[in-house]
Amino acid sequence: MPDVIVIGGGIAGICAALELLDAGRRVLLLERDTADNFGGLAKDSFGGIFLVGTPEQRRAGIRDTPDLALADWQAFGELDATDRWPSAWAEAYVQRCHDEVGVWLRRRGIGFLPVPHWVERGLFTPGNSVPRFHIVWGTGHELAGRLIADLKGHPKRDRLDLRFGQRVERLLTSNGAVTGCAGVSEDDQRPFELNAGNVIVAAGGFNGNIERVRQHWHRDWGAPPPVILNGSHPYADGRLHDAVAAVGGRLTHLDAMWNYAAGVRHPRPRKSGHGLSLVPPRSALWLNWRGERIGPMPLVTGFDTRDLVARVCAGQRQYSWQLMNRRIALKELAVSGAEFNPSIRDKKKLAFLRDLLFGNRWLYEQMVSCCEDFVVGRDLTELVDKMNALQGDDAVSLDTVRRTAESYDAQIDRGESLHNDEQLRRIAYVRRWKGDRIRTCKFQKILEPNAGPLIAVREYIISRKSLGGMQTDLQSRVLDDAGQPISGLYAAGEAAGFGGGGMHGLRALEGGFLGGCILTGRIAGQAAAATT
Ligand SMILES: Cc1cc2nc3c(=O)[nH]c(=O)nc-3n(C[C@H](O)[C@H](O)[C@H](O)COP(=O)(O)OP(=O)(O)OC[C@H]3O[C@@H](n4cnc5c(N)ncnc54)[C@H](O)[C@@H]3O)c2cc1C
Repeated sequence: MPDVIVIGGGIAGICAALELLDAGRRVLLLERDTADNFGGLAKDSFGGIFLVGTPEQRRAGIRDTPDLALADWQAFGELDATDRWPSAWAEAYVQRCHDEVGVWLRRRGIGFLPVPHWVERGLFTPGNSVPRFHIVWGTGHELAGRLIADLKGHPKRDRLDLRFGQRVERLLTSNGAVTGCAGVSEDDQRPFELNAGNVIVAAGGFNGNIERVRQHWHRDWGAPPPVILNGSHPYADGRLHDAVAAVGGRLTHLDAMWNYAAGVRHPRPRKSGHGLSLVPPRSALWLNWRGERIGPMPLVTGFDTRDLVARVCAGQRQYSWQLMNRRIALKELAVSGAEFNPSIRDKKKLAFLRDLLFGNRWLYEQMVSCCEDFVVGRDLTELVDKMNALQGDDAVSLDTVRRTAESYDAQIDRGESLHNDEQLRRIAYVRRWKGDRIRTCKFQKILEPNAGPLIAVREYIISRKSLGGMQTDLQSRVLDDAGQPISGLYAAGEAAGFGGGGMHGLRALEGGFLGGCILTGRIAGQAAAATT
């Protein structure tokens, strides 16, 4: 019998297993997916990690402290101090991430891009006071790959039993303690029941299950949109949330989700409704389904992702358009994740620099030629015709789009000292940070003749992360409704709302997802090892 069963082979489960092996425990890791997909979402992720007080920050002239980070975190997430475990985990994360995430990864040979990105700066609620998003050189692909290699090459590897294609469905109990789990093997549907001293649930969130996303849709966003693309794991279906609830575990903050506003259909989908989350170009005009600029406060990324989602969802049709030209797309268009960032993923320095300096032609070609949500036109008439053809009606008004683009361009023509447009003000502001200057055009007109062709992108809400989940204490023990730990049961990563059943609160400063999985996975492994 293993000492500990880990359910889920994502980054949280891998980190838990590493700690258990370090402590000499016998580990059984059960993963529903195939061995090729070992690593879960982390493998596809961009690899941005929220870290505080790092060498990269210091070299960039940023002074950051856990106190500052905590103040930002609490304000942005609107964390309720009386909400004990999310608050305790938020504090633990900012205090411990430097050593127990950053230094721990560096010791394993994982490095970061030299300049941290400045995301989620805050809009009506303060966000990141300073840049903290540290991108792994090699993306999440490298991150997961290195940790998997460490697991497989561990000196105590003989104590690790890795089983793929195993779908866990429920937890086994005896006298109120969790003693194992049961499920079926995916290939032959043969049932299994397995026992262990402790069980760690690291099976991810539920945002891969769009029905469940709708069920827990936050009231701030009104009714859920008819189309929600899937940007999560196909097996992030909430099955283990139900299993934990069935043994008395408490689930909290399930309506706190981290979804994105700029989802497009994946050109080569691998699951139903498979979406890609664009990093929406800041120099593009963000329009509603009629082609009207969304306002009066224009939509600009990098400040408050949750607000972008709320604003798009408030529309009569809950999708939007971004209007830009080729020059803007080349410089600013990006897709979150490893798959569409090959130069960073494959650590090709020259290609990375070439894309930064001369524009990402590969991505541009991929998107305009293969993604059905991109339309291209030599002029606005052709573009609007194609937008309407894609929508299947005549809702986009050519006159409206023309007036909107001309008036924006006229602002730019007046010169920077006379700019009186919130989007232009924010572009000027973000360009002051070197990490953004290189990726943001300097007041690019939309209709400039030699910057074309024109491009419009239809963007849907895309589901991504569950900010809530199984409530855990600071040892990653799952708590019941009375706040008492359930003997033998631990949870880590997205399953645990990244710690405490919702350590981010309503909004995330970004990068605390991977970071939270590493920290909670490690702590769950250490705590489970200590009691077996
Ligand atoms: C494209 C993309 C980009 C991202 N970029 C970033 C980023 O830059 N920074 C950041 O912080 N976060 C990012 N994220 C989010 C981050 O990758 C995830 O939140 C994190 O990897 C979740 O890890 P996890 O181990 O908790 O869960 P998962 O990765 O979901 O792993 C859970 C595992 O459990 C398995 N499982 C599920 N159900 C069962 C079952 N019933 N039985 C057995 N096994 C089961 C699944 O197959 C899966 O392998 C990104 C995500 C995506 C998709």
